[in-house]
Amino acid sequence: MNMPIQPARQTTVIKTAEIDAMATTLFRPMGADGVYARTADYELVIEKLSALISSYRDAEAEILRFPPVMSRFQLEKSGYLKSFPNLLGCVCALHGSESEINQAVGRHDAGGDWTTSLSPADLVLSPAACYPVYPIAAARGVVPAEGYVFDIAADVFRHEPSREIDRFQSFRMREYVCIGAAQHVSDFRARWMDRAQEIASNLALPFTLETASDPFFGRMGQMKAVAQLQAALKFELLIPVRSHEKQTACMSFNYHKEHFGTVWDMKLQSGEPAHSGCVAFGMDRLAVAMFAIHGLDMTKWPAGVRKTLSLS
Ligand code: ATP
Ligand code: ZN
Ligand code: MG
Repeated sequence: MNMPIQPARQTTVIKTAEIDAMATTLFRPMGADGVYARTADYELVIEKLSALISSYRDAEAEILRFPPVMSRFQLEKSGYLKSFPNLLGCVCALHGSESEINQAVGRHDAGGDWTTSLSPADLVLSPAACYPVYPIAAARGVVPAEGYVFDIAADVFRHEPSREIDRFQSFRMREYVCIGAAQHVSDFRARWMDRAQEIASNLALPFTLETASDPFFGRMGQMKAVAQLQAALKFELLIPVRSHEKQTACMSFNYHKEHFGTVWDMKLQSGEPAHSGCVAFGMDRLAVAMFAIHGLDMTKWPAGVRKTLSLS
């Protein structure tokens, strides 16, 4: 079920050549699809977008910044392997003795494969920013009546190599997360769906807001996706970055119901499991969208947009 809220303006025809030029200007290759060095202009836009998103932050929000890795145990417990095992990147290391490690290096020196000596560490690459926040909140005991709001960010990894300009393996995710009673979380999400549209409008980005589903793994996953759509648990703000037909999700608005409350035994004062929801900003997708819609020369961006981003 799609619920177009504001039709995307179809004023530009996006050409493949333009998209290729964008990648060449904004990024430098690092030898792997979807993993790029970012140039100064691009990073400036990321910084300005981050500041703009911060300016909408709820006053009570607690700020936490996460590293790009998280506990493997915590992600396993969150149920990630049941939904997206194909996307996960796991940290591996040479855990053996000095002589075993030397053998692995020796194999490499002789042109062989050293990676067969690797074994998994206790860390995974975080596939989304918000997973580590729930055990942190749960450790504080019963959730206070007013709930929690967190402002979080992380560099995340998803094993989905692609040459498309809007799909990275390593990208920045900013999130606001709400934990509390069901009504509290649903009000939070509704508020952020309004704010997100205001942000996109102020940035003169054409967009639609639609119900969406996560790309759950496998055949069982398709049933989960249908249930998620029917319950409107996920919305996305889509922008025509490289095509009008297949638009790019640049923000998502997710309601997890009591999933994380149950996993982490995080209770409300009533004794019921806490509900949670998050709004996620794909920072790299938003930055790419700005250049795709307004052009590569930031000095020529519309005056209103430059003002919104404090570029002039
Ligand atoms: P998609 O359907 O495009 O794969 P998603 O549903 O997997 O997106 P979420 O899990 O909701 O995305 O992640 C939150 C946000 O992170 C997305 O709205 C998007 O802006 C961004 N994002 C997700 N995957 C990527 C990626 N591979 N490269 C860049 N940004 C991404
Ligand atoms: Zn989240
Ligand atoms: Mg995805």
